[in-house]
Amino acid sequence: MAALQIVNVEKRYKSLQALGGVSLSVEPGEFFGLLGPNGAGKTTLISIIAGLNRADSGTVSIDGHDVVSDYREARKRLGVVPQELVFDPFFTVRETLRMQSGYFGLKRNDDWIDEVMANLDLTNKADTNTRALSGGMKRRVLVAQALVHKPPVIVLDEPTAGVDVELRQTLWKFISRLNREGHTIVLTTHYLEEAQALCNRIAMLKAGKVVALDSTSALLKRISGSQLIVHLA
Ligand code: ATP
Repeated sequence: MAALQIVNVEKRYKSLQALGGVSLSVEPGEFFGLLGPNGAGKTTLISIIAGLNRADSGTVSIDGHDVVSDYREARKRLGVVPQELVFDPFFTVRETLRMQSGYFGLKRNDDWIDEVMANLDLTNKADTNTRALSGGMKRRVLVAQALVHKPPVIVLDEPTAGVDVELRQTLWKFISRLNREGHTIVLTTHYLEEAQALCNRIAMLKAGKVVALDSTSALLKRISGSQLIVHLA
């Protein structure tokens, strides 16, 4: 069974067709890249996968659970790292992660929260209010938040946009490790080199449509660098 199955998803914002019939199937254990320029529809697709936005038509399922009709079961299996750095500013990092655990009905998972914070170099910020964190630190908290319920499938919406080289390396290493440990990863990015370094397979989205889908090596062989830039522009 596919870890993530997207079938013919369409989404329109008034006259604008943001997604024009997207179908993708991601297998368990894959590191899958969703590449595309600004406005291609990546965030719209991620928000539909996360159940935060409704498709006009088509279906999405996580491990066989439909994200609309079987939302609870689908959501349990999914970790989402959104693009926007939105937190309740009155809580510390540890409290934020505990609240997220509570959302999933998990109570005694402080050991796991400590481990996640340690892996993301967040331990010394555990008791800091999230409003006092730098953008990079907030980004780490977003990743930690997505992991509190140990989801088998993790989708990350441009997790390295606007972060410095050091954090980019930390995130790359950590996400790769999660993948080696068996998590299925779906990552959206603008950066070809990021997709190339991390992903086994890439889908290129443009104006709401999948314009290329292949293994990373085959895709790069097929499309020369300059053509790729045209695709992404
Ligand atoms: P980026 O790389 O800039 O984040 P993206 O690939 O994630 O872009 P989306 O954010 O999904 O693209 O946007 C796809 C299209 O839908 C864009 O033209 C955008 O302006 C439009 N759009 C997105 N959200 C809305 C909304 N809530 N209302 C109207 N139009 C929207």
